[in-house]
Amino acid sequence: MFFKKSPWIIHYDATSCNGCDIEVIASLTPMYDLERFGIVNTGNPKHADIFVITGSVNESSRTVVKNIYDQMPNPKVVVAVGICATSGGVFRECYNVLGGVDRVIPVDVYVPGCAARPESIIDGIIAALDILERRHVEFRKAKSEARRQENKLRRYHLND
Ligand code: SF4
Repeated sequence: MFFKKSPWIIHYDATSCNGCDIEVIASLTPMYDLERFGIVNTGNPKHADIFVITGSVNESSRTVVKNIYDQMPNPKVVVAVGICATSGGVFRECYNVLGGVDRVIPVDVYVPGCAARPESIIDGIIAALDILERRHVEFRKAKSEARRQENKLRRYHLND
C-alpha cells in the first residue's frame, strides 16, 4: 500500500499572525499545487494523516491542538510550519505563550521561516510523506504481530 500517494492533511492555526496560514493556503493553490502529490485538505481530524500547524501554542489553543492530534488515527505525522510553531518565535515571551507546538504534541518535521515560504512548506510535507509511509509499514507489522500473538493465545486456551 502507498499511503504517501494519497495523504489527507488538516491545517490548524494555533495562534499565528496569519502570515504562515496564508502561505499554507498559497501552497494549495494551482500556482504551487501541493495537491499534485495526491494531497487533500480536510477539516475533519478523523480523516487526516498529516497535521499541519502554524503559530505558537498558548493556554487557550493547547487543548484544541491536543484534541485534534488525539482524534487523528494512527499512524500520523505532525508538521510545524514557521518559526512560531517551531519555538514560539516572536511570541515566545508573551505572558500566556507556552512555546512551539512540541510543548504539547510530538512534532516530526519543522519548517523554517517567518513567514514560511510555500516551497519550504511543500518540502516539509514531502518529508512528512516518507515518515508516514514508514510508520504505516511499522504499524502494519505491529498489528499482524499482535494478531499472531492473539491467535496463539486462543489456540492455547482451546487446548486447555
Ligand atoms: S513565523 Fe512569522 S509569519 Fe509565521 S506566524 Fe510566526 S510571526 Fe507570523
